[in-house]
Amino acid sequence: MVATPTRADSGQAVETFGNYIGGEWRPAAGGETSENRSPANWDELIGVFASSGAEDVDAAVAAAAEAYHTWRFSSPITRANILHKAANILEGRIPEVGRELTREEGKTLKEGIGETTRAVQILRYFAGEAQQPSGEHYPSANPLTLLYTTREPLGVVGIVTPWNFPIAIPAWKIAPALAFGNTVVFKPASLTPLTAVRFVEALADAGLPPGVLNLVTGSAANVGDPLVRDARVTAISFTGSNETGAALRKAAAERGAKLQLELGGKNPAIVLGDADLDHALGHVVSGAMMSTGQKCTATSRAIIDRSIADRFTEMLAERIAGLKVGDPLEAETQIGPLIDERAAERVASEVEAAKQAGAELLVGGGRVGNGLERGAFVAPALFAEVAPDSRLGQDELFGPVLGVIPVDSMDEAMAVANQVKFGLSASIFTRDLGKALAFAREIEAGVVHVNSETPGAEPHVPFGGMKGSSSYSREQGKAAREFFTQTKTVYIDPPPA
Ligand code: NAP
Repeated sequence: MVATPTRADSGQAVETFGNYIGGEWRPAAGGETSENRSPANWDELIGVFASSGAEDVDAAVAAAAEAYHTWRFSSPITRANILHKAANILEGRIPEVGRELTREEGKTLKEGIGETTRAVQILRYFAGEAQQPSGEHYPSANPLTLLYTTREPLGVVGIVTPWNFPIAIPAWKIAPALAFGNTVVFKPASLTPLTAVRFVEALADAGLPPGVLNLVTGSAANVGDPLVRDARVTAISFTGSNETGAALRKAAAERGAKLQLELGGKNPAIVLGDADLDHALGHVVSGAMMSTGQKCTATSRAIIDRSIADRFTEMLAERIAGLKVGDPLEAETQIGPLIDERAAERVASEVEAAKQAGAELLVGGGRVGNGLERGAFVAPALFAEVAPDSRLGQDELFGPVLGVIPVDSMDEAMAVANQVKFGLSASIFTRDLGKALAFAREIEAGVVHVNSETPGAEPHVPFGGMKGSSSYSREQGKAAREFFTQTKTVYIDPPPA
């Protein structure tokens, strides 16, 4: 781990973490490092991390390319065993890793532990997937021909991930990439390198051969950009913002790399007049506010039937105002900080701008004091009477901000729900089976919920968005094989007698 414990100015003991390249933990080639601090308290140093550059990316890609030929032809059972072992190792570390994730990312401890547990489940799932049938047998025009397809790995895969699910997203990309015989260069978000180190450690400790998985920490410009432009990187799997996704589309298209994009969302929850309002309330608030609203699948628009809009909005305001904002490591905290000061300032100023534009702020939206001044805290916000075509009704704010849009009919609810560039997840709350079925059929979203919150996603089923939320590919479950492999069609004829 390049782990000479050092001492920061503050007197805290901190560890220095390197890159993992060719089976070794090593510092960045240029020797540069950067500090990472807790979003809940900037005085708390999480660690010091390699601030890498093109030379490190080059070394990592070279190591992955060298390892590929052996890993590709290794037994899928061997790969499955390593993933199983990594799952067991990570499972044994859940309390520490979940806690570190919370310190580093800011989601509550319950969520940090939950996400780490999810990463264990994902490793196990793909250990199983490695052993599933891969390809199909076809009849041939020639009855003597053995005609079949097989799925083969792509080569060296670049994995670029965001900070908001710093262990689950790397897990659901890296586990299938490895299970199906690819080698990997992993560039995690600059804001969550420690969680990335912990995930890679579990796989390294499970006996992954050198070079099969490589971790390079550092910035988008110095690590991300050279990685996605490297001609030896056959495919890139990316999760993050639409802006970065657009840049990656160009970079990948220029050199013909396979690309998977999972991007933003502006996810609606429709509440119809016949819904169980207490049930809907819990799911809408949780969908909007857990992880401080920083989920791609977070509910950001509550589209409410006008017959219940006033009552339900009052219920929302009361519940949201009562959420406990605080140190995410404390058991009673429900809402932690945003990811950093920049994000907190951005969300607070978006709230101001929405107010100026005429939206009615009912609760929250400001920076939080009460001893939390040294962290990125914003009080969860609720707006009433949001115009569907306003910025608040259209753009992803990526924070704890929910807007209520009253509507007069199911038709209007559907029109409003679909009237955004995104299409990631969506919910409806109703007892009317016909309306629920119509919603599931007509909503333009990749993940659809009836009577449950927009963020719910199980690890063994396909996940991804429609329209501007994705590149039409899907992750997780059996869908992962589609991206991380390619098809070979084989005709075998007997030699002439
Ligand atoms: P981001 O700014 O796009 O960054 C994502 C990753 O890309 C980071 O590792 C970043 O590095 C890297 N990166 C940025 N520019 C790059 C470039 N030009 N070339 C190569 N790499 C580059 O997104 P974020 O702020 O971390 O994440 C929030 C966004 O992710 C939201 O829009 C959210 O909706 C979306 N998201 C989507 C899903 C989904 O499954 N659909 C899931 C979670 C999050 P640095 O960290 O060094 O800048």
